[in-house]
Amino acid sequence: MFENLQDKLDRAFKVLKGQGSITEINVAETMKEIRKALLDADVNYKTAKSFTDEVKEKALGLNVLTAVSPGQLLTKVMNDELTALMGGEVTELDLKNNPTIILIAGLNGAGKTTFTGKLANFLKSKGKKPLLVAGDVYRPAAVDQLQILGEQIGVPVYSNIASKDPVGIALEGIAEGKKQNNNVIIIDTAGRLAIDEQMMDEIAAVKASTKPHEILFVVDAMTGQDAVNTAKAFNDRLDFTGVVLTKLDGDTRGGAALSIKSVVNKPIKFIGTGEKMEALDVFYPERMASRILGMGDVVSLVERAQQQFDEKEAAELQKKIRKNKFDFNDFYNQIQQIKKMGNMKDLMGMIPGVGKMMKNVDIEDDAFKSVEAVIQSMTKFERENPDSIQQSRRLRIAKGSGTKIEEVTKLIKQFEDMRKVMKQFSNPAAAAKMMRNMP
Ligand code: GDP
Repeated sequence: MFENLQDKLDRAFKVLKGQGSITEINVAETMKEIRKALLDADVNYKTAKSFTDEVKEKALGLNVLTAVSPGQLLTKVMNDELTALMGGEVTELDLKNNPTIILIAGLNGAGKTTFTGKLANFLKSKGKKPLLVAGDVYRPAAVDQLQILGEQIGVPVYSNIASKDPVGIALEGIAEGKKQNNNVIIIDTAGRLAIDEQMMDEIAAVKASTKPHEILFVVDAMTGQDAVNTAKAFNDRLDFTGVVLTKLDGDTRGGAALSIKSVVNKPIKFIGTGEKMEALDVFYPERMASRILGMGDVVSLVERAQQQFDEKEAAELQKKIRKNKFDFNDFYNQIQQIKKMGNMKDLMGMIPGVGKMMKNVDIEDDAFKSVEAVIQSMTKFERENPDSIQQSRRLRIAKGSGTKIEEVTKLIKQFEDMRKVMKQFSNPAAAAKMMRNMP
């Protein structure tokens, strides 16, 4: 996401490179470039204009700082202002009520149902006990979709396909949730292809009768300015509490993320970065600003890793490593954990400096495919006893996995090396010895 904007901002900053200080003239030239970059990213004109005016004023005001270069100074000012533009502080969900009622609204195809599942999954991982309510009375397929998602993440779904009354279903769902002691009830609603009075009336009626604590408006970031206009129309009618921007993984421009707050004055609370249930991030304006400026987002990366991290499992693994019992089954499981963290390219983009480098590199969607195929072609015995895999077994595995024997050998060699290193690190004395031997 944001690759194009990053590129253009980079170019704008070059104007200042090598300049001793920020002057009215060079800053004006840079601001013109930045404004152009923002407009190209599909930020609306008013927002882009007021943004660059603000940055210019701040940059000139801070010009007395001689310790930093004009480029560094501008990066800092831009970082602060982008953060402010996107809402400043992170705005978390209000979950103090029991049950907390969350209403989900948006157009068809925006990613509402997917987000409903992701949110339930996210809240479940935080120890909440959510219930999903399937409130789309027009598309039976949407009800099925939610049910499948619910099953996948282990969260119950309330539905009543015999009913065509969205208010009734929502109220039934809440009653059911109270009975089952669910502390968060998330109501998915029907969308339309475009803004439509009947839809708005319906959602407004659901709002009036369920009195939700949060109303989240879901919108597809790839629609750019349209996303901002739709947000405005929904907000005028619903006065929602937060925005969810989906499909940021596919949006290289990012204009919606930058303009929505300043147009509707409601915070972005979550962003969707993929189709998987785990591809959801809490929206942190400051981290996003750093990402736009190519400064990386290590904090989000670490948090995603932590979400996938199970302490008990890690302790078990430690034990196995110490006993040199780490086998191909464990290796395979580790790969699955990494994959759950999301799309590789996206993950790499969170590392400072790497985002830009990776831009033109085509990372396969599934970088682990051949490794997985090789492991899957091993027998149970082989996976548990990697040392047993000699030449004839390698040949069979290569055939079974559609790879070459060299690839199988390479993987086994890498696996053995990894095991050695892991073993050394699990034994403090050996690790210390190894460190001493390092050049
Ligand atoms: P709804 O009509 O608003 O309920 O939309 P859906 O939840 O059915 O989503 C529409 C399509 O967008 C589906 O194919 C989803 O898999 C996809 N989708 C939803 N969120 C994201 C996202 O964050 N990234 C990507 N790449 N696809 C998404």
